Amino acid sequence: MLFIKRMGYAIGQAKAHRGAFAKLHEQTEKSCASILDIDPVALKKSGIKALAIDYDGVLAGHDAPNMRPYTQAWLQKLLEIYPPEHVFILSNKPSQDRKAYFKKHFPGVGFVRGQAKKPYPDGLLWIVAQCQIEKSQLLMIDDRLLTGVLAALVAKCSFVWIKNPYTNYHKRPLVEGIFFLLRKIERALLL
Ligand SMILES: [Mg+2]
Repeated sequence: MLFIKRMGYAIGQAKAHRGAFAKLHEQTEKSCASILDIDPVALKKSGIKALAIDYDGVLAGHDAPNMRPYTQAWLQKLLEIYPPEHVFILSNKPSQDRKAYFKKHFPGVGFVRGQAKKPYPDGLLWIVAQCQIEKSQLLMIDDRLLTGVLAALVAKCSFVWIKNPYTNYHKRPLVEGIFFLLRKIERALLL
């Protein structure tokens, strides 16, 4: 029931923001192939003060318990530029396993819990209040148009859309297949 309500909300908000999605093709700074293409130094210079990072597809394949070595290295580099209390994981699957993983490997990096799932803007607005920054100073990094990118549009935060997400086909063929289709559908509908 909650899922259906959230889907209805996503469709309504996607319609309201269709102009922003249509412009994504021209706004090359708002998308990239991988999170590794994002330069933390350049981000800081551009005025971004805090980050909300999606997990599945952005830092690892779906349901992968651990990040990939190169995304781990990227996050380490980010944390040389940003204080950990301004870096958050904003995933619609905030499992205990993941929370424990971050606590062990990246202590201080916040894990947003207890907020309405993306595309509701609640998680992003919670971070804005937590860090006492302007909405535009928070950057959402997400591979899904109808969840993270839409949440950023609703919340009026900045975003980068990850176009070539990491996958985990050998371990999660069904889940990855479903998400492959979802991404195809949302691109066809929105772009
Ligand atoms: Mg994702």
